[in-house]
Amino acid sequence: TTPSAAPLAYRVTPSTHARTDEARAALLAGDLGFGKHLTDHMVTIDWDAAGGWHDARVHAYGPLSLDPAAAVLHYGQEIFEGIKAYRHADGSIWTFRPRANGERLQRSAARLALPQLPVDEFVESLRQLVAVDHEWVPSAAETSLYFRPFMIATEAFLGVRAAQAAAYHVIASPAGAYFANGVSPVSIWLSQEYARAAKGGTGAAKCGGNYAASLLPQLEARAQGCSQVLFLDPVEGKYLEELGGMNVFLVYADGRIVTPELSGSILDGITRHSILQLARDRGLQVEERKVSLDEWRDGVASGEIVEAFACGTAAVITPIGELKGKDLSIGDANAPAGEVTMAIRKELTDIQYGRLPDRHGWLVRL
Ligand code: PMP
Repeated sequence: TTPSAAPLAYRVTPSTHARTDEARAALLAGDLGFGKHLTDHMVTIDWDAAGGWHDARVHAYGPLSLDPAAAVLHYGQEIFEGIKAYRHADGSIWTFRPRANGERLQRSAARLALPQLPVDEFVESLRQLVAVDHEWVPSAAETSLYFRPFMIATEAFLGVRAAQAAAYHVIASPAGAYFANGVSPVSIWLSQEYARAAKGGTGAAKCGGNYAASLLPQLEARAQGCSQVLFLDPVEGKYLEELGGMNVFLVYADGRIVTPELSGSILDGITRHSILQLARDRGLQVEERKVSLDEWRDGVASGEIVEAFACGTAAVITPIGELKGKDLSIGDANAPAGEVTMAIRKELTDIQYGRLPDRHGWLVRL
């Protein structure tokens, strides 16, 4: 709603308490996990209804100062993104389809009545952070720097309305190889009692509230020995939607690869989109359509469906061994990862890490 015509000028204030080279190296050499360590700097851009986007800056990572009446704390007016930087063998740093994330942030902003950050500014914000924190991009196999851009409503006002002031930030966290001991299939839990989204709700937006709603079913999944939850459509409760933080695919014996269509309540994943393209390139027949739980169950039983996987920026592609639910078990937790699943996973990560030519122009140098 407030495209600023000229690119924002950044003020860069280096941290006075950045970690030493030794401390950072020790940290990067350890078990990085996901989201545990944050880099030394962050980006902040302020917005208000009168002045638009202003005061873009890179500064020391640290606590935010928020008025206790800030709208985000009361009405959950918050959106975010997740995107990675990859270090290539020659040391250069690249990111993957950042404009797609920038456009998704704009769609999330529209749904949550937050201001739209121009896509160019989204990409620039990643570049600005990497310019100061490039040494935080790890280089071990399958590691990356995970960016967490987010926007919050900061206006101090308790009336329920779209806030007149907001802030955009980017923080970053070095991320380890998701499957340190080789990719292995996971069990996932079917949420039969809870939905994460509603018809006409915010399921297609990347807003914090969707994830808050997924935490209780996620606890249930954990208690059942599963690592993620699968949600069904919130209207009929019949069709696959997505996992708490990943999209889902089924692979058929006849060479079809099927994923739930964008229903309005699932997130339009950039990994999903990329996989659809790579599958087409391989000559697989791709289908985006409604997929019922019955189709999955019957297809596995008949041998028609041979693989299932989940996908998202964090883990790229995770093979699904088994889908469990109350009185339900589809697949086999101990089955090996599927061939198509692993071939597409390898191709996508080879492109991201610069081991294969970037034939679709997906990589952007930071
Ligand atoms: N669905 C949900 C609910 C997610 O949180 C994510 C992660 N952003 C995805 C799907 C996968 O999206 P992407 O491939 O863009 O990471």
